[in-house]
Order: sequence, then C-alpha cells, then structure tokens
Amino acid sequence: MKFRETVCFDDVLLEPQKSTIDSREEIDLSTTLGKLNFNFPVISSPMDTVTEASMAIARARFGGLGIIHRYNTVQHQCELVSEIYTRLEESASSAASNIAAAIGTSDDFSSRAESLFSVGARILCIDVAHGHHTLVESSIKSLKDKYAESITIIAGNIATPQAFSDLSEWGADAVRVGIGGGSICSTRIQTGHGIPTLQSVLDCRDIADTTIIADGGIKTSGDIVKALAAGADMVMLGSMLAGTSDTPGEVFQSTDNKRYKVYRGMASPEAQIAWRGEARSLEGVSTTVDFKGNTRKILSKTNKNIKSGLSYTGARNLKELRSRARFIKQTPAGLVESNTHILAR
Ligand code: IMP
Repeated sequence: MKFRETVCFDDVLLEPQKSTIDSREEIDLSTTLGKLNFNFPVISSPMDTVTEASMAIARARFGGLGIIHRYNTVQHQCELVSEIYTRLEESASSAASNIAAAIGTSDDFSSRAESLFSVGARILCIDVAHGHHTLVESSIKSLKDKYAESITIIAGNIATPQAFSDLSEWGADAVRVGIGGGSICSTRIQTGHGIPTLQSVLDCRDIADTTIIADGGIKTSGDIVKALAAGADMVMLGSMLAGTSDTPGEVFQSTDNKRYKVYRGMASPEAQIAWRGEARSLEGVSTTVDFKGNTRKILSKTNKNIKSGLSYTGARNLKELRSRARFIKQTPAGLVESNTHILAR
C-alpha cells in the first residue's frame, strides 16, 4: 500500500515576498459565506463553551460570525437567537440578517430548524462529527426544499475532496473542512480516522465554488493566515476564543489568583452528560483555559496579525493571498526555530 504524505499547520511556512503595502490599513480581509459578505473571515464555533448570544454579538460587531450551539432545548436556543436579533437590530440593521444557529440531523431536526427560522436565524449550520453522510444529504435537501434561497446552509465536518464535492452538490453553501484536528478532539485517537485540517483545505480548494471554512486545530494567527492562503474563505475557532469575556460559563479563580474558564469538546463526557444525560460517543476532552479578557481586544490583535501576514506575502486581500502564496515545508528543527526558543534554553 502506498501512503500519501500530508501536511499540517506546523509542517509549513509561507515564503515572504516583495510587498508594496505601506500600512495594514490598505489590507482588506473581506470574504463571502455563500452569498453573504463579511469583513472579517473568522467564525466562532458552535460549542457550549464558545458561542451563545454574547459571543455571537461580539463576533457580528467585529464583522465576522458566531454560530449558536445546539446543545440546549429548542426554546433556549430560540431565546438566544431572539436576544441577538433584538440587540443587533438596535445597533446595525444588516448584522441582524446574519444570525446563525446549529442544528443536528435527527430527532428534532426539522422542528428546531423551523423554530430557529421563525425567530430570525437565516444561517443554519448542520453540525455533525461525520458530515459525509446520507443523513446530512437528506437534511440539506429538506432545508433547501423548504427554505430555498432564504437561508444559507453550512454543513460538515468533512475532510476529503469527494465529501466536499458531495456536500456542495447536495446544496450546502459552505462546508466545514477538518476532521480530528480540534484542540479538544480525540477522534483520531479513539477512531483512527482524520486528516490534518490544512491538508484537507488544500485538497478541497479547487473542487467547487462552495465556501470553505477551515475548522479544527487553528491555534495562532499564523495558522489562520496559512489556512486562508491554502484556500479557506473563512476559519472557525474554538480554543483561540475560549476563555474570553464573551464565552458562556463562569470565570473561576484559583488559590494563586489565576482566573480561568472551562473549554470542552462537545463529545467530551462532561458535555455529553450535560446535554443529553449520558456519555455515548467519547471523542473529546474537557479542560480549563486561562481567562483571556475582552473578546474585542483579542479579535483586534488577531485582525492586525492576519493583516501583517498578508503583507508578508504582498497581498492586499484574501484572493491575492491565495494566488500569491508559496508554501514551504519546514523540518522539525525548523519548527523549533520558528517558535520563540530562548525560553527553552
Ligand atoms: P479548536 O479551534 O482547535 O479548539 O477546534 C474547534 C473545533 O473542534 C470545533 O469547531 C469542532 O469542529 C471540533 N470539535 C468540537 N468538539 C469536539 C469534540 O468533542 N470532538 C472532536 N471535535 C470537536
């Protein structure tokens, strides 16, 4: 058997190239999700320790998107969507039309979708671990039949070009690309399956016009730039936003006065027991992360770093980044040199 070589974020770097950009202000990070426009290509993940109303509003005000998770009752999820709708309508009219919420494929699939639509959600995210599945096919088709062009459908997660092509053909407007790469994910360990997220993005980039959302394993603004250069239109973040002021959950204080918050995989025992009363498929872990403070400050820093990234490639926008980008592979010793290494001496 022949084994294909794949690359992950830490395996590669982007070659710096001649730039004519004088200031980060000249760089435009706008992108599209289906037919919708966003001026910042970052989505917060539909997880119960990442996105509820507060994060979705913070994300919308910054120009990106937050997807309300589905690990709650239909009523509670609809209350969160209504709260976002009301608060966004007060500040910007256009943002209120971009409210996103996650749904599954079984049990309450159709009633949840209907209720969310009735309170204003116009982006529905079919959120399952293995998105290359006939249940996802029938779910996308039934949403398309019912709502046609009045909603935008995100579906996933998938990892292969065949899956990307199938979900596009079934009617997904955007696809979450990445299986097994999440910081809290144990899918590859528990099931032996997965593909490095960056490789999946590279494999899917020329398959269809459908929006690519790189999801799982993005740990730095450098990884965001690599994902966008590889072909992602947007990235989805869990751990990079976990622990910020707008994530759900309490801030705990330890005896040495350190503050932290919980961040957990939705397939972790803790999350599963909380939302369905029993732990069925265990492919995630729960942990604590440092309290990071104000979400806007974190996003603003990330925004500046991504723009600096584009500047190193000499790109004024994401389209130029994609066409100009030249990846190189780095050795394990190169990775050590790439990280701040004085601290390890
Ligand atoms: P992170 O940004 O690396 O922390 O990864 C976040 C992504 O991990 C999410 O957007 C999901 O796609 C995925 N994910 C969330 N919960 C789980 C889990 O319990 N197991 C596996 N993957 C998960």
